[in-house]
Amino acid sequence: MLTAPLAGPLFDHWRADPEDGTASVAHDPATGEVLAAFRNATPGEVGAAVERATEAFRMWGRTTPAERAALLLTLADRLEAVGEDFARAESVNVGKPLSLAREEIAYDADVLRFMAGATRTSHAGAAGEYVAGSTSMTRRDPLGVVGLITPWNYPLMEAMWKLAPALAAGNTVVLKPSELTPLSTLLFAQLAREVLPDGVLNLVLGDGATGAALVAHPAVRLVSLTGDVATGKKVASAASATLKRVHLELGGKAPALVFADAPLETAAAELAATGFLNAGQDCTAPCRVIVEDTAYDAFTEAYGKAVAGLRCGGPEDELSHFGPVISERQLERVEGFVRRARSAGASVLVGGGRVDRPGWFHEATVITDVRQDDEIVQSEVFGPVVTIQRASSDDEMLAMANGVDYGLAASVWTTDVARSLRFTRELAFGTVWLNQHLVLANEMPFGGFGQSGYGKELSAHAIDEYSQVKHIMLKAAA
Ligand code: NAD
Repeated sequence: MLTAPLAGPLFDHWRADPEDGTASVAHDPATGEVLAAFRNATPGEVGAAVERATEAFRMWGRTTPAERAALLLTLADRLEAVGEDFARAESVNVGKPLSLAREEIAYDADVLRFMAGATRTSHAGAAGEYVAGSTSMTRRDPLGVVGLITPWNYPLMEAMWKLAPALAAGNTVVLKPSELTPLSTLLFAQLAREVLPDGVLNLVLGDGATGAALVAHPAVRLVSLTGDVATGKKVASAASATLKRVHLELGGKAPALVFADAPLETAAAELAATGFLNAGQDCTAPCRVIVEDTAYDAFTEAYGKAVAGLRCGGPEDELSHFGPVISERQLERVEGFVRRARSAGASVLVGGGRVDRPGWFHEATVITDVRQDDEIVQSEVFGPVVTIQRASSDDEMLAMANGVDYGLAASVWTTDVARSLRFTRELAFGTVWLNQHLVLANEMPFGGFGQSGYGKELSAHAIDEYSQVKHIMLKAAA
C-alpha cells in the first residue's frame, strides 16, 4: 500500500493519463497495479532544463565547498525527517521489502553527508617550482552541467551516488530517473526545491529517448549512466559526437569463490541472503558461486537449504527477504534464461519458475550442472537466479571467475592468507570482498572493470570524477 503523498508541483507538472499510450507508467510490481503515469520530456524540455542548469551554474560554480556542504547536509536532514515517505514510495514502486527500503534511505542520507565533507578536502599535489623559474599549482574546477541517468533497481540510492558528488563538486545537474521507478526521485527533487537555489537540480522524466536527448545536448559536459551494458555502449557512442565525458556503471555477473577451508555454513547462509537481495536485481549480487571440488557437495546442500528458506513476499510482508521483479517483461526475461539453461542440460536445484500469485514474483532459483560458456553463466540475468559451478584447482577457480565480460564485484571465501592475497590481486573486478559480499562503505570507491563500465562512484574519487584539473603556471620574479 502506498501511503506516501504523490502530490506537489512536480507531480502535477509531469502527471499523465495512464491510458495515454505515450506516457511512462509506474506500477506496483507486487500486484501489477498502476501507481501513476508521467509524461516523457521532449527534447525541447530537456533543452530547457539544460538552460536552467547552465544559468544556475554561473552562481553555483562560484560557491565555496563549505557553502555547498551546508546545503547537502540540510538535504540529508530533510530526507531523514521524511524518510518513511521515501521508503514507502521506494518499496512499493520497486517491489522491495519496506525494511530494505528503510535501510536504503538512511544510507542515502549518509552519501549526502559524506560528499558534503569530501568536497572540503583535496588530495592534490603541493604547489611548487617543478621547472626552474616557474611556480606550478593545480585547481580542481567543476565541469558545468552534468546529466545523470539512473536505473530502476535502487532508484534513489543511484541518484544520490551521482548527484551528491556532482553537486558537492560545484556542478549543476539534470537528472533523469528510470521511467519505471521515478517516484522517490520525484519526491527528492520536490524536497530539494526547498533547499537548493533554482536551477541547481533539474529533473526530467522519460524513457530512453529522453535520456538520449540529454546525452546529445552539447552544453552537457558529462553524462553519468547506471544501466545495462547495451545502454552504456549507446551512451558512449552518442557522447562521442560532442566529446563529453562519460561515466558508466553497467551490469555485473559477480562470482563468489568458495574454498574448502572456508566456514561453509556461514558462506552458504550469507551468499544465499545476498544473492537474492532485491530479488537478485543487484549488479553486485553473487550470482555465480564457484566451489572447490572437495567442498562442493557439503556447500551445495547447505546453500540449497538456505535459499529454499528465503521468504518471498510483497513490500508489506515484514518477514519477506525478497519481492517481485520489476515488470512482467523482466519476469519473462528471467523465465527465458531458466528455460534455456534447462534445455542446455542444466539442473534446477531450487525453485525454477513463477510464483503462483498476482504480481511479478519469481522463485529463488539455483541452477547446477552448467558449463563456463553457457548463457546462464555468461549473461546477466538480473533476477533471482544463481548458478553453482565446481572447480578443482585455484587456477581453475580464477579462470572461471575472470572468464566473463563483466568486472564489477567478486568475493573470495577462504581462511588461507596467501590465497587471499593472490585472489584479491588477480580477480579483475572493481570490488573484491573477502569472506563477505555486498557490504558498501561510502568512503571507498565503487565501479567496474571490463564491460561493467568505467568511472568511480562513492569516496573522494567521485568528487574527482565530477571535476576537472587545471594546471596554473606562474613565471617567478627574476
Ligand atoms: P537500462 O539500461 O534499461 O536503463 C537505465 C537508464 O538509462 C534508464 O533511466 C533509461 O531510461 C535510460 N536509457 C535507456 N536508453 C537510453 C539511451 N539510449 N540513452 C540514454 N539513456 C537511456 O537499465 P535498467 O534496466 O534500468 O537497469 C538495469 C541495469 O542496470 C542492469 O544491467 C544492472 O546491472 C545495471 N546496474 C548497474 C549498477 C552499477 O552500479 N554498476 C547498479 C544498478 C544497476
